[in-house]
Amino acid sequence: IACSEEADLERSLEELSELVRAAGAEVVGRLVQKERSPDNTLYLGRGKVEELRAAALFTRAQLIVADDELTPLQRRNLERALDIPVLDRTQVILDIFAQRARSSEGKLQVELAQLTYLLPRLTGWGQTLSRLGGGIGTRGPGETKLEVDRRRLKHRIAMLRRQIAALGRHRALQRRRREDLHLPVIALVGYTNSGKSTLLNALSGSQVSARNRPFETLDPTVRRVLLADGAQCLMTDTVGFIKKLPAHLVAAFRATLEEVVDADLLLHLVDASAPDVERQMEAVFETLEDIGAAGRPLVLAFNKIDQANPPELRRLLALHPDAVPISALYRTNLDRLRQVLVEALPERERVVELAIP
Ligand code: GDP
Repeated sequence: IACSEEADLERSLEELSELVRAAGAEVVGRLVQKERSPDNTLYLGRGKVEELRAAALFTRAQLIVADDELTPLQRRNLERALDIPVLDRTQVILDIFAQRARSSEGKLQVELAQLTYLLPRLTGWGQTLSRLGGGIGTRGPGETKLEVDRRRLKHRIAMLRRQIAALGRHRALQRRRREDLHLPVIALVGYTNSGKSTLLNALSGSQVSARNRPFETLDPTVRRVLLADGAQCLMTDTVGFIKKLPAHLVAAFRATLEEVVDADLLLHLVDASAPDVERQMEAVFETLEDIGAAGRPLVLAFNKIDQANPPELRRLLALHPDAVPISALYRTNLDRLRQVLVEALPERERVVELAIP
């Protein structure tokens, strides 16, 4: 992992390490350069590049990740000097989303974001863009298309935009169909890796027959969930909660994120075992504020209590006495969660809901 000149660079690098781990790679070392390199075409100073090259050889690193967004020239020069693929933060985030996108719209959004990111970086590049590096940055629907030239890339981007627009219309239609069911909608929000899809599976799992799950095939991120006292709801999963989401990615995920605003209730799932749990919660709240969903009714659940540190969990629960501690993986305390969700649903929704046979 390479450098950043930010004042708060320890924290920034710690976050970057978490992102890299979330993408599936192991961090074998860090290198910090406190002052901006006088040679702007290389990102790092000559001496630092030498240091990095030696460290990479020693640790057998297969990939270098820069904390800042690199210019195409900086990346190319660095790769030449180091003889290892170099990625930046945005590409790592895109890789995480590529691994996690589940709906067809989400997959297209990730591909569009990947290609839009690549396009200005293609200029003058004769080489192929497929790279090694532990797979990071090469995954996702964008991968097989990375070798096409600029013109075909632009063509593909235009097509993706059309497909996403069409899916958006389809989504509006689906939403109306969902409304016809008169089920309250609970939006599952939470930092990447907090366990949202595990929880959605655990809650919707065995109780609802496949026949009753019309949305799953169309959109695996919406499920019918049985709550307590016979009440049901539709629960939606949302990708896109991550720290320092670059602005152009916020735009790409905005459409899906905005569905959160329409939900009757938000369920904020927090990984209680994460070392930076508070900062992850903050990042989620900031995103909710951004999309205008900060004031919505919300239930907080602390997940992964099976692997959380007990004093830390006690501290979190003391700070948030209404939160529900659960383990989505081991299905611990889910009945309590179902009960709390029913009670937190706005009155109107509960009445409509319970009237349904
Ligand atoms: P998402 O990104 O929020 O959808 O998170 P996932 O559902 O993909 O879960 C991320 C990782 O956390 C997976 O490896 C899960 O198996 C794991 N996980 C989810 N819930 C729990 C839990 O309660 N306990 C433990 N130990 N791991 C969990």
